[in-house]
Amino acid sequence: MENKEEIYEIAILGRVTWNLHSLNNEGTVGNVTEPRTIVLADGTQTDGISGEMLKHMHAENMWKLEKNKSNFCEACKQLKPERADENKNVRGQDSPKNAVKEALNCELCDIHGFLVQRPTVARTSLIEFGWALGIPQIFRDIHTHARHSVQEQFLQIEEEKDIGNWENEKCSKKGCETKPEESKLYKVKNKWYCEEHLPIKTGQMIYHNPTRSGIYAIISVFQPWKIGLNNVSFNYEVNDIQRKSRYQLALKAYQAMFMRPEGAMTATRLPHIENFEGIIVVSKTNSPVPVISPLKDDYKDQIKKIKIAINVGENIDILEFNSVSQFIEKIKILLEKRPYKVEFKKE
Ligand SMILES: [Zn+2]
Ligand SMILES: [Zn+2]
Repeated sequence: MENKEEIYEIAILGRVTWNLHSLNNEGTVGNVTEPRTIVLADGTQTDGISGEMLKHMHAENMWKLEKNKSNFCEACKQLKPERADENKNVRGQDSPKNAVKEALNCELCDIHGFLVQRPTVARTSLIEFGWALGIPQIFRDIHTHARHSVQEQFLQIEEEKDIGNWENEKCSKKGCETKPEESKLYKVKNKWYCEEHLPIKTGQMIYHNPTRSGIYAIISVFQPWKIGLNNVSFNYEVNDIQRKSRYQLALKAYQAMFMRPEGAMTATRLPHIENFEGIIVVSKTNSPVPVISPLKDDYKDQIKKIKIAINVGENIDILEFNSVSQFIEKIKILLEKRPYKVEFKKE
């Protein structure tokens, strides 16, 4: 029997342990990578994985999990970030309303949103991710690279020695007076240099190519009620069966991305996934799900208190999970439900 329960919004709040990953190197261009250092409200520096990166991981999983690629527009078939803006059928429409209607034929355009320039119309994503933020005790190991900005080549730092621990090495620059307690020592092309004498000329920059390990706070919100909903005319353009299958595809993409995160540099730095624990907050009627950052140790308790305070008619559910497999199971429960539908027409 079909489960009649409807899902309005879903929030995923949790702490994920990813070891030795480089998922945050979304700034990777050629061999150049940018570290992701974030400053929190209290001034603490930590590292993070951007929401764009996580959203991209989700979209890619949706694409992979859809057997029938004809459910995507031409741009999305090739996973192009332009989405509907590259869709000739959308660009040819005479009004924003019709452009959105046409674009909603594509599952990925519907769920992940788009920006069309002509006619000018935007659809916000139904899947939102915040930065995954390293809970500050995170451990990071930074491999430093020096880069020629013109040739886009790396002078890789092959080895480094810590401040005060140069062992028997010293800087190979003639007349260098840097003392071991003042600088790290770096090995480049088989020679050692202090920070001051690293062979970097004008136009070159040092880049860090970080491999990190840590526990990251994850927040994501999914708004199933908007699936297939034309955000200009406020009509559902997609039938209930398709809405449900898009809802399921989006949920399965969440399962996949936490089962096996893939992103920048996973060819050689596939993250060691240790754990994922947290809560899935579900709203079953038209009220927004509460979101509290898992950076806070008591985020689960706070959500539970909010649930009690606002829970008129049992409209909010909390599903707790303590492992990746439990997360998969809890999402599976949601797969049985269907996306909420707003009634716009009085009949
Ligand atoms: Zn598309
Ligand atoms: Zn030196």
